Order: sequence, then C-alpha cells, then structure tokens
Amino acid sequence: AIAEGKVIWMDGEVVPWGEAKVHVLTHALHYGYGVFEGIRAYDTPRGSAVFRLREHLVRLHRSARMLLMEIPFSVDELIEATRTVVAANGEPACYIRPVAFTAYGEMGLSPLSSSISVSIATWPWGAYLGDEGIAKGVRAKVSSWRRHDPNVIPPAAKVTGGYVNSALAKAEAIKAGYDEAILLSPQGYVSECTGENLFAVFDGAIVTPPIAAGALAGITRQTIMTLAADAGIPVREANLLRSDLYIADEVFLSGTAAEVVPIASVDDRPVGTGEPGPLARELQRRYYAAVHGEDPQHESWLTYVHG
Ligand code: PMP
Repeated sequence: AIAEGKVIWMDGEVVPWGEAKVHVLTHALHYGYGVFEGIRAYDTPRGSAVFRLREHLVRLHRSARMLLMEIPFSVDELIEATRTVVAANGEPACYIRPVAFTAYGEMGLSPLSSSISVSIATWPWGAYLGDEGIAKGVRAKVSSWRRHDPNVIPPAAKVTGGYVNSALAKAEAIKAGYDEAILLSPQGYVSECTGENLFAVFDGAIVTPPIAAGALAGITRQTIMTLAADAGIPVREANLLRSDLYIADEVFLSGTAAEVVPIASVDDRPVGTGEPGPLARELQRRYYAAVHGEDPQHESWLTYVHG
C-alpha cells in the first residue's frame, strides 16, 4: 500500500515502484558488494528540502571508491535524480535510500568486471527509534558483537554487506529487551551504534569517538558538532570505554534515520538522572530547526526539491 503510485529511480530511469526489480543472480545479493546512503527530506516553509544532500552523495561516491566501484553517475546527476524522485513521490518529508551495487552478469567473487547498478527510492518514515525514544530516550546495551576491524571491511564506507554486523547487534539487543546496541571497536573502545553515532557529556562538554574507533563519519554527527559549537558547547573527539558511558552525565545518539535521540540507560545503568539531559535537548531543538529550514545560519544545508 505504501508503494501504490510511487516510483523509484533506477539506472537513469524513473520506473514504477513494482518494476524496480533485480535478478536472483545479482552479484551484490550473494556477496554484499554495494554501497548505500540514508538521507532525509523535510517539509520547510519553502517546501520540501533534502538535508545535506551533496554531503551524502559525496559519501556514497567515497564509499564506492573504497570498494573500487565506479558509480556511473556523478554527484550532480544523483542530486538531480534525488530531486526528481522526491518530487514525483509527492511526500515532502521522506527517507531517501540510494544504493549502488554489483549488478547481474558475472558470478564469482571479483567485483572488477561487474557493471554497477544504481537506484534511489523514497518512502515516508517516522522516527526510526520511535517518538517515545526521541521524547524519553532509549535503552541501549553494549553488544557482544564487535564493530568490524577496518582491515576486514572499512567501517568508513557504508557497505551493504558490512551491515550484517549492525543487524546482528540490533537483533541481539532487541531480543534482550533493549532498543539499540552500542558496538565496541576491536581494540575495545566505544565506536558507535548500529546505525547511529554516539555522544557522551561530561561536565558540560561533549565527547564523541574518533573515526579511527570504527565510527562512520556521520553527517548528523558533523552537524551536531557544528550546532554544539554554535551553542558554545565544547566538543571533542576522544576514545571512550564502556565504563565511561556508565558515569556520563548524558549519552545520546545521532543519525539521519534516528535524528537525535537520548540514551536513557546503558547496560541497565541509568544515564545521569535517567531523563534526557539538557544538552541532548538543546541539540535536538537546534537539529530540528536546521532540518526544517528554521535556522537561517545553516540554510546552505538544504537542497530544495522544487525551484
Ligand atoms: N553509523 C552507522 C553505522 C550508520 O549506518 C549511520 C547512518 N548512516 C550513522 C552512523 C549515522 O550517519 P549519518 O548521520 O550520516 O546518517
């Protein structure tokens, strides 16, 4: 029902939702060889606007580069394709999912002779961790699964197959009664959550794990760092141990799908008072203002769909 009348952009064409199909012998289906993005468009006073679209598509191209994949569309072409499909689907606020992958053709592990297929789908998607998560915070658990080592699969790239790691951690957390998992790096430092970056607050300053701890260079992460600087809140990158999270004043996560979500407890230890803290609240407020076109200072983060 969600898909009725909707379209997907696929390899340069706009096709009806139900026709955006691939063959079962698609190389990427077998080997997980693909890269993707997660982007959001929001309704603003000037109509639908995609948040930090160029940065997301540059990251898609960088992910592809790390995988020796040549995406047959430039960043500018993908920007136009995204605007086209968001406009065609008529949902001013939506989630946008570009994916580029080794297509049907040759089997065998080498991706080098595979052609690369690219598609962009959109759909309306509410708060990824729930409205209650945004309002009250979520319960997180340090996963028994480690974030993959950079010399196994680069965590700096959004690789489709790499998300088996996130999916295992997410499933473990849900089955144990938690909302989200926190993954540690192979060295034992906090890296990030399954699809979100992580921040902790100590004495009024914000700390987030470095990229070298296996954290994705999240666009929301970078946005939060800028918004914190705007608010005069000190931010720095530093390695964190799981026990640091047990004594932090606040812990929160950030991501395009999840947005900005307080973490109410880590491994059943309430974070601070157990209620969302003031810095998470302030940054949530600033984030929503920015994405909804209510922050003139960061107007350049918006790509309007019409005009
Ligand atoms: N870490 C991981 C593993 C992710 O999948 C995501 C979502 N892309 C993030 C962090 C957050 O990144 P962003 O803010 O760019 O959505």
